[in-house]
Amino acid sequence: MALRQVVYIEDPLLRKHSRPVTKFDDRLGKLLDDMAETMYSLNGVGLAAPQIAVLRRAVVMDCGTGIIEMMNPEILETSGEQEGIEGCLSVPGRHGMVTRPMNVKVRFQDRHGDWQELEAEGLLARCIMHETDHLDGQLYVDIMSREVFDSELEDNPDEDELEDEENDA
Ligand code: ZN
Repeated sequence: MALRQVVYIEDPLLRKHSRPVTKFDDRLGKLLDDMAETMYSLNGVGLAAPQIAVLRRAVVMDCGTGIIEMMNPEILETSGEQEGIEGCLSVPGRHGMVTRPMNVKVRFQDRHGDWQELEAEGLLARCIMHETDHLDGQLYVDIMSREVFDSELEDNPDEDELEDEENDA
């Protein structure tokens, strides 16, 4: 495994639409392993391939329940609403308030090319929406209701949100 360089908000690559993953081979496995290692090394909870300058529809996430890999994810259903603080490994040092669905049903291929379905809620649902947005060139800063400043994070009595704040995606 190897660490990959994360690209930042100014990079036009982050604004491109990524192409579907079509080859489920050792090269994809290596890419996914590198993405996970890079995500963990930066204390992130999610990373999309375009964030390491690979324009393929592949994302990895770990919202505390172990690694989840998704190729070619398609959001099938969403319901409910949650407002919360998001960060992004490609937007270092900033956070924003973002409204997302509370529940998400997603279809995707695993690293072997087999189709899977997952129903997620809360932080994982937020993470899935954030990462799939990356595949279409969208960043959370495009849809946030407002910037959240460090002073607010420190004063925030909600430990869950503080914890989320540490976990950029
Ligand atoms: Zn992100």
